[in-house]
Amino acid sequence: MTTQEKQNGSVMGTYGRFPVVLESGAGDTCTDEAGRSYIDFGSGIGTSSLGYCNEAWTEAVCTQAKKLQHTSNLYYTKTQADYAEALCKETGYSKLFFCNSGAESNECAIKLARKYSFDKYGKGRHNIITLINSFHGRTMCTLSATGQEVFHNYFFPFIEGFRYAAANDIDDLKSKIDNTVCAVMMEYVQGEGGVNALDKAFVDAVYEICAENDILVIADEVQTGVGRTGTFLAGDQFGHKADVTTLAKGIAGGLPMGACLANEKCADVLDKGAHGSTFGGNPVCCAAAGAVLKTVTEKGFLDEVNKKAAYFREKLSTMDGIKSVSGMGLMIGIELENKTALEVANAALEKGLLVLTAKTKIRLLPPLTITYDEIDKGLAIFKSVIK
Ligand SMILES: *Cc1c(COP(=O)(O)O)cnc(C)c1O
Repeated sequence: MTTQEKQNGSVMGTYGRFPVVLESGAGDTCTDEAGRSYIDFGSGIGTSSLGYCNEAWTEAVCTQAKKLQHTSNLYYTKTQADYAEALCKETGYSKLFFCNSGAESNECAIKLARKYSFDKYGKGRHNIITLINSFHGRTMCTLSATGQEVFHNYFFPFIEGFRYAAANDIDDLKSKIDNTVCAVMMEYVQGEGGVNALDKAFVDAVYEICAENDILVIADEVQTGVGRTGTFLAGDQFGHKADVTTLAKGIAGGLPMGACLANEKCADVLDKGAHGSTFGGNPVCCAAAGAVLKTVTEKGFLDEVNKKAAYFREKLSTMDGIKSVSGMGLMIGIELENKTALEVANAALEKGLLVLTAKTKIRLLPPLTITYDEIDKGLAIFKSVIK
């Protein structure tokens, strides 16, 4: 039996997987069972932000695993304390809650927003506005928050209290705001939705309306955060800091971790017993995330990310077969002229390049540490398969 047959035989068929069995990786490339190597322009799904088995990351993970792999949140660990303090300091947030995924980060943000409002105004101010074409996760609550009809099937009844407004349409958003709304949740760049950045004017208006009405802004930076767009948080480029920011994907370089960050206004809303997680803040994950944070915030690192992003975009702009390129930093959406994204992803795989898709687009989320040499090699393959 092949690995693929074995896996399909015992793992639920929830994924459309590519026909490749990955075995090992180093830097920007990974290798399959048969020994074929692939340049990875997807880095998991933006998770392995420092590439495969980065030296500092591996060292941090192994050291912690050999010392204390886990303890419950009934106790303190220095590893969690150090990382939490460093992340709050870097992002300017007051406090955070640790969990294990993007969906859980958003669950935390939703609970926090509803309780913030309940504590201050009492019952009835529980509605949350999200944007059409957004993606906030796969749990019942975050599916309900996700503003895409395709996700609102089968699993009825969904969680009440979400309203969907058109992205970049401030009048539509205004029409959905009343005194029952406690938060607006949005991605600065809609990732799964097709790598579409919000307009600065729209984002400005959201913050203004929310400030006027004591409505919390929740930035879902699960995909855009931790350097992906060229600043530590994508919000930095819009000149705004949300009341609550959620992180996951690239935060721990490939280990499961999420964080929900809150500013001084709402940092103490979730008090004893209001929320929790068995694994949240696991020391191995915190050690891994610490290595990512240290690397990404080193002097010049994000400048280098921006240079590489510009290099990618420059090269893509000269290629035939591309209609448009979207996104920010090393979060790149590519609209193709004649081929479907899946066709191109499959053809690229055949030639030794891994790319992601987002709706009808190709999506690239390469390691933030990718080398120019690998960018050149990968884009040469990409060019040959989009023609
Ligand atoms: C991936 C993603 C999520 C869900 O993260 P999981 O770790 O799969 O739960 C939520 N929001 C955004 C913006 C994402 O890109």
